[in-house]
Amino acid sequence: MADYDVLVIGAGPAGYVAAIRAAQLGLKTGCVEKWIDDEQKPVYGGTCLNVGCIPSKALLDSSQKYAEASRDFDTHGISVGKVGIDVPAMIARKEKVVKQLTGGIAGLFRANKVTGISGAGKLLKDKQVEVTDHTGKTQTLSADNIILAAGSVPIEIPPTPIDQDVIVDSTGALEFQEVPGRLGVIGAGVIGLELGSVWARLGAEVIVLEAVDAFLPMVDQQIAKEAHKILSKQGLDIRLGAKVTGSTLKKGKGNGVTVTYEDKDGEKKEDFDKLIVCVGRRPFTESLLADDCGVEKDERGYIEVNDDCATSVPGVYAVGDIVRGPMLAHKGSEEGVMVAENIAGHKASMNYDLVPSVIYTHPEIAAVGKTEEQLKEEGVEYNVGAFPFAASGRALAANDSEGLVKILADKATDRVLGCHIIGPSAADLAQTVVVAMEFSTSAEDIGLSVFSHPALCEAVHEAALAVNGRAIHIANRKKK
Ligand code: FAD
Ligand code: AMP
Repeated sequence: MADYDVLVIGAGPAGYVAAIRAAQLGLKTGCVEKWIDDEQKPVYGGTCLNVGCIPSKALLDSSQKYAEASRDFDTHGISVGKVGIDVPAMIARKEKVVKQLTGGIAGLFRANKVTGISGAGKLLKDKQVEVTDHTGKTQTLSADNIILAAGSVPIEIPPTPIDQDVIVDSTGALEFQEVPGRLGVIGAGVIGLELGSVWARLGAEVIVLEAVDAFLPMVDQQIAKEAHKILSKQGLDIRLGAKVTGSTLKKGKGNGVTVTYEDKDGEKKEDFDKLIVCVGRRPFTESLLADDCGVEKDERGYIEVNDDCATSVPGVYAVGDIVRGPMLAHKGSEEGVMVAENIAGHKASMNYDLVPSVIYTHPEIAAVGKTEEQLKEEGVEYNVGAFPFAASGRALAANDSEGLVKILADKATDRVLGCHIIGPSAADLAQTVVVAMEFSTSAEDIGLSVFSHPALCEAVHEAALAVNGRAIHIANRKKK
């Protein structure tokens, strides 16, 4: 008999959720995690809880409060005098939030009877896993089902070797102990814009160098244009078509860096106190797979899986950042649940078409479904409804009225195909549309629902009404 019904490798949001769900379904479940703290105790939660979603949002929230206190409170008639920032205290608060949540996973493991196994797991053949702990001691465990959830790590590029002091990756950027005077960010992707925003709000002069000419090419371009305008106004100097080609540390460690980049006018240089490299992430499979384990990878290093996250080896699954699809915590978690359910004999599947994505700048940028550009490319005829937050009573009351909600619906059937929002609480607003789309909603259905007043979600209501020329609080676009 195998040691476990289910053995998960990796306790990030894909792995720990899979483990908890499997245990809830009555399966004997273990979860192997190599991350340990200074006291050699296992740390759960992976990138998301430790150095990703949660700490970045903690700093985004702290820095947004600072920005509002410095620049916005007087609009409300509140005077606070000179606003200061204690960066080490801000970082310490972030760490406290992280500790609370990672400790929470350990508690959930206990409550659900998931056995946490500390060490690095390696998949051997015949569904065996070799676990090596931090002292080098190994044990071999067997399981009827194995779920690989080893996640991803930041990509490094040769021009800017990471030293986690002057040239940092996203992890190092969550640890600055003071506000850099001049901060370079390589990559205007989700992480680059979020981390750039944190330090810009606190007073750093931030220059974002992005190799590609388009800004946020995966985002609906009307929203991307609005985002570019708003973020530039906030002080992010976003330089598109700027490919970083080299860097030189100045006067040794701790004294800044000169970065060389090329744009359409030729080679340029910029000096920075700190440089954050945010050029994407890659699946992490180092030492995860024995040569003869039978699991296949694709040409980009992702573990190859089918729609059910099954690998080429029966009984071995892979979920989260280590497999195709957007590198998002909630995508991995849902895959984890699906795999656990299927192992337990249920029939679960996942709707990859409705995975929402969010950029947590202020205002937030959130989307689900197709963009206008995608619909055009696919030759789908559609109607558009849009509503600006400038016309939302609640947004104006909060002095937070930049951005818009945009809903795209099939011209023939009125079925909602996409929702794109830049604005206050965009993530939560878009989520309401995700639920509606899951039930194949029409724009009319949303329009017929009753929305609370005054609330930001009224902008979703009005955008849905506008799809069919029925918005009340803006002039409707002429119907086609
Ligand atoms: P991970 O979270 O990377 O976890 C993998 C775990 O496996 C790690 O704990 C690792 O130590 C362990 N492991 C690896 N190999 C082994 C092994 N051989 N043996 C044992 N253990 C192993 N996503 C969002 O959805 N929303 C956000 O707002 C968001 N913000 C982000 C901000 C930043 C700065 C970053 C870097 C990422 C952000 N992400 C966000 C992405 C999100 O963190 C990832 O998509 C998510 O963590 C992936 O989950 P995962 O479980 O697949 O992998
Ligand atoms: P994302 O994949 O969303 O994390 O975004 C990473 C961004 O980094 C992409 O938009 C890339 O175009 C950008 N990028 C990658 N390499 C370079 C480089 N050498 N210089 C500037 N930008 C880069």
